[in-house]
Amino acid sequence: MTTLDSADPIDHEALRSRYLAERDKRIRADGNDQYIEPTGTLSHLLDDPWVVPAERDPVDEEVTVAVIGAGFGGLVTGARLVEAGVTDVRLIDGAGDVGGAWYWNRYPGAMCDTAAMIYLPLLEETGYRPTQKYIPAPEIHAHAQRIARHYGLYERALLSTAVDSIDWDDAAGRWTIRTSRGDRIRARFVAMGTGPLHRPKLPGIAGIEEFNGHTFHTSRWDYAYTGGDPDGAPMDGLADKRVGIIGTGATAVQCIPHLARSAGSLHVFQRTPSSVDVRNNHEIDPDWFAGLETGWQKKWLTNFATLQTGGFTDEDLVEDGWTDISKRIRDRVVAEISAGAALTPETLKMAYELSDDEKMSEIRARVDTVVTDPVTAEALKPWYRQLCKRPCFHDDYLQAYNSPNTFLVETDGKGVERIDGTGVWVGGTHYDLDCIIFASGFEVGTELARRSGFETTGEGGRTLTQHWADGMRSLHGTHMHGFPNLFLIGMTQGANLISNITSNLTEAGTTIAAVIAHAGSTGARRVEVSAQAENDWVELVGGGGAGFLGNPDCTPGYYNNEGRPISRRQHLDAGGYPGGPVAFFELIDRWRSDGAFEGLQFTD
Ligand code: NDP
Repeated sequence: MTTLDSADPIDHEALRSRYLAERDKRIRADGNDQYIEPTGTLSHLLDDPWVVPAERDPVDEEVTVAVIGAGFGGLVTGARLVEAGVTDVRLIDGAGDVGGAWYWNRYPGAMCDTAAMIYLPLLEETGYRPTQKYIPAPEIHAHAQRIARHYGLYERALLSTAVDSIDWDDAAGRWTIRTSRGDRIRARFVAMGTGPLHRPKLPGIAGIEEFNGHTFHTSRWDYAYTGGDPDGAPMDGLADKRVGIIGTGATAVQCIPHLARSAGSLHVFQRTPSSVDVRNNHEIDPDWFAGLETGWQKKWLTNFATLQTGGFTDEDLVEDGWTDISKRIRDRVVAEISAGAALTPETLKMAYELSDDEKMSEIRARVDTVVTDPVTAEALKPWYRQLCKRPCFHDDYLQAYNSPNTFLVETDGKGVERIDGTGVWVGGTHYDLDCIIFASGFEVGTELARRSGFETTGEGGRTLTQHWADGMRSLHGTHMHGFPNLFLIGMTQGANLISNITSNLTEAGTTIAAVIAHAGSTGARRVEVSAQAENDWVELVGGGGAGFLGNPDCTPGYYNNEGRPISRRQHLDAGGYPGGPVAFFELIDRWRSDGAFEGLQFTD
């Protein structure tokens, strides 16, 4: 007997049908195009609410390395460069401070779902101990500032400075960067860490521009209107307000409990419920932390990545919702094989489905134990596999719906129909509102030039957009042929470890610093990946799976191209190393340590 036919309280076939029916309700012909950029009368939604840019003269100068983007990607790259002896580094960012996504996202309740011990980069290097297992956004932002201070990156940073263009000057062997402040910076090397979570997108709901009340996007929280602060102080400005929030993703799950506490009334317009598992946060014991051995963070990172991707280790150091689901799948595979099953793709798929069904059934059952109104509880249950959307972990979100002022407006997968001058329409009912908050996410699947707001032009006047017209092309997600001395700090076509984004960035930063330091020590003026090496890597990535993006059964979302078929181009734009994150981290460590930097050409 295998675990397949053992007594099982879950009707897996019925679940499959329900999942598909719920998905079908939500599939839209317009896919990603349902979202719009905040332009025209909505362009103020992009304004920086945190800093008034100081006047300054344009900068005209030459630097060794310009780092575009001062989020964790840019910061760890700057840090690794300084460690490698390259100190002539300029960070450039449109935001008024370092921190990237954590600069912008200061909505009440913002925190990171990934454990701080592995999420915060360079903890050993900076000597910082996170206060809790999962920490709030202000503490994360403060860590970004700590890295910038620790490595002297503030001194040369150009903040509140948006890049307009980056152009390769072949004769000079330099990149020319032009900015919104009239700067002209010539850089021998450029590293770009422009991340996807800073450029808000809006739902393209008819009439969105007509609303006469107050609106803002969660990543530009308007505390001047709401009162309160990012540390969670009560939002007194909302006490007499009828507030509506559109979106129930990871951001909304975190800010809704705060809105429920402060708003006169709160209407949550839900298209698809998030899966919300327990958080179980706890403080980090200083004595325990002080006893950790040198090199602990690398060990924790490897342990997490191994377990989260189905591998084996003696212990689970992080022990969170990410490793939980992976361990369940892995243990089920082991049980199947012990019971005589062969290790086939079918066995793996079955183990994944059964474990996921078990997990999601627990998550749905939890809703019933928390939410008192049975109709609301039913509407809050997610009917899809856990990893179809960003899994959420929260101990106050579901509870918020027990507040007498908080109303879930279930739209049966259709979302808000229309917005007018005084509120929103759903299912023929009008909801009068004073304020609409858009928790509608960020540009993730769009082209780099659109997301970052500038174009990069390499050798022979070829732009990065042209180079990637048929999908991203790179070696390791970092080096592009025809774009010498240019490096990307990201995760696509690299480890692609979505559960802990910063570990991808730290590895990329370490690699880039090693390459630039090698160029410096050998006197090479130019570093470029060969066409062959780039091509081989693209074929390798293109031959692997497209991850969740490739799962057609999933409910639509940005993890799966809003449920639309995946083209080769989208596969390349979202795929990672086929061997998985742990294998990639090992590969890249060897690659940058052996001194050969295979695939790169260093020339004078
Ligand atoms: P998402 O893109 O995840 O969510 C957007 C939401 O808007 C969805 O609930 C979507 O519904 C909803 N929506 C869109 N159009 C409509 C409509 N017409 N009517 C009603 N609802 C609509 O954005 P988030 O800001 O929540 O999260 C973005 C990412 O930021 C996360 O995936 C995560 O990677 C990151 N994040 C990470 C956190 C962390 O702890 N590390 C915390 C917060 C965010 P539908 O689901 O049906 O598409």
